[in-house]
Parts: sequence; structure tokens; C-alpha cells
Amino acid sequence: MIELREHYQEIQEALADAAIQAGRKPSDIRLMAVSKTRSYQEMLELFSCGQLLFGENRVQEVEDKVPQIRPEGMRLHLIGHLQSNKAKKAIELFDGIDSVDSLKLANKLEGHLSKPFPILLELKTAEEDSKSGFPSEDVLFSALDTIMQSTYLQVRGLMTIGPLDGDEKMVRAAFSRLRNAFDAVKTRFDPPQFDTLSMGMSGDYRLAIEEGSNLVRIGTKLFGKRG
Ligand SMILES: *Cc1c(COP(=O)(O)O)cnc(C)c1O
Repeated sequence: MIELREHYQEIQEALADAAIQAGRKPSDIRLMAVSKTRSYQEMLELFSCGQLLFGENRVQEVEDKVPQIRPEGMRLHLIGHLQSNKAKKAIELFDGIDSVDSLKLANKLEGHLSKPFPILLELKTAEEDSKSGFPSEDVLFSALDTIMQSTYLQVRGLMTIGPLDGDEKMVRAAFSRLRNAFDAVKTRFDPPQFDTLSMGMSGDYRLAIEEGSNLVRIGTKLFGKRG
């Protein structure tokens, strides 16, 4: 477990370095620890190092591994595709959903909520078919026309997964596209507290930070390779 602590320090230094290289403040970049496939014990270990925000991509996995009563301050967000029929369960398990990718899902969530709930909208910026996310800016904007009428859903920002096997140019283009969409949403809709641009993972966080990310989602570089 010493290793996890060391990885945590290393990644924080690497993020600070990337921020400075990009002419930004290290304190502007937040870290989400992506703990999918990792044990709750490892999450607690990282929490004891000071990490508060965790990301998981499957409802079922969280239901199985994370106790309902968690240490105060620990926050768990969903970053994987959510089927509408699991919306109710997801609201119970998570403190936020960073992967809302359809109006149908947003409506389902809103229908089950009785208190304010933060979400990010996911835009598909790479062509791979397997990937979730709103298929285009137009579809996302038209969904926002409705989502902005919600009583409980709070749209806090946008999220994307960069092309996983793209070259630097492709990855940068995807991130720059999300950044532009972020600015467009701010201009057109101006949601309250719209401040989160979630992009960048273990392999591409430097480019993401250069392109304006303020929330990077790191799994492998913290916990090691997944099985
Ligand atoms: C798994 C995952 C990550 C973390 O990926 P690493 O390459 O392990 O850092 C980030 N975002 C999403 C949506 C993921 O599913």
C-alpha cells in the first residue's frame, strides 16, 4: 500500500507539472481516482491519503463492493454508460453522474430525484462505435433545451473520452472540440455552476490539460494496470 501512496504523490506532481507547462495553475486541475475493478480497501487507502473524488463505470460493481455508509467527504461519481432502467439505483449509489448521454436518461433521472443532483453531459468526440455520449453538439444542445427546465438536475459541465488509439493530433482535436462545446453551452444556456470540463485519462491527461481540462480521470496511473 506504500505503492499506492507513492503513485498518488507522483500523479499529483505530474498534474501540477502539466498545468504549469500549459501556463495554468496546478490548483485548477482536479483529480478523479478511477477505482473500477479495484477493491474498496484500496479506495479507503487512497481516501486516507486525501483523495475525495472517485469514479466508477458500473452500477452493479459499486452495489457489490461499496458499502452504503461511506466515510464523510468521500464522493463517488458514475463515469460509465447508464441504462435508463438503472437510473433510480444510480441516484441512490452515486453523488453525481458524469456520463449522462441522452435526453431519455436525463428525464429518467429527473423523474426519480427529490433533491438537487449534479450531472455532466458526455459528448462523443471520437468515431469509435462502442463509445457512449451524445452523438453531436446539436443533439446535446437540443437536449439541454429540456434539461435546463429540470427542477433537480444540475448540469455542472461536460465530459468526453478521447480517442483511445488516436495520434496526438486526433486526441487534441477531440479535447479541443469538447472545450468549444463547453464554451458554447456557457454562452447559449449559462447553467448555474457550470464549471467542469472532464477530459483526460492516464494516457492523455497532459494533452487534456493543455486543451483546458479541469478534471482528469486517472485509473491505471494510480492503481496500476487493470487485470
Ligand atoms: C477507465 C476509465 C478512465 C480511467 O482510465 P485509465 O486509462 O485507467 O486512467 C477514465 N474515464 C473513463 C470513462 C473510464 O471508463
